[in-house]
Amino acid sequence: MEADGEDLDPQLVRGWSDTFLEHHCICQYCGFDGSRTPEDWVQLQGDHLIPRNIAGEHAEAPLNRVTSCYYCNSLKRRYDPAHGHFTKIPNHKVQRELIQDARKEIQRRKADIWKYGSGLEQSYKFMMQRLRP
Ligand SMILES: [Zn+2]
Repeated sequence: MEADGEDLDPQLVRGWSDTFLEHHCICQYCGFDGSRTPEDWVQLQGDHLIPRNIAGEHAEAPLNRVTSCYYCNSLKRRYDPAHGHFTKIPNHKVQRELIQDARKEIQRRKADIWKYGSGLEQSYKFMMQRLRP
């Protein structure tokens, strides 16, 4: 960051930095390690575990902030792991249960995307064989 760092909201940047540090820059949904290179690091995003429109005043609470990779976050979108029963995430145990629920839904959505053809692994292999015959 150079001089334009002044334009960033320090509260917001510090908030997500704390989240990334707490999770060791690992996506909590798929295990992607965003700490290896700057290119990996920029794949990390902050996810509101309970979507903002549902969490309301608790949206920015530390336990509602989760480190996610771009791909997982784009699939999760407004998925509510509390299924409409949200009040406030009280502790890390409940947070882990909610993350686990969201992880399953994200995995289901990934599987759904790649159900045509033979799945992600096979699709990747097919592309690489064409790219580097
Ligand atoms: Zn991920």
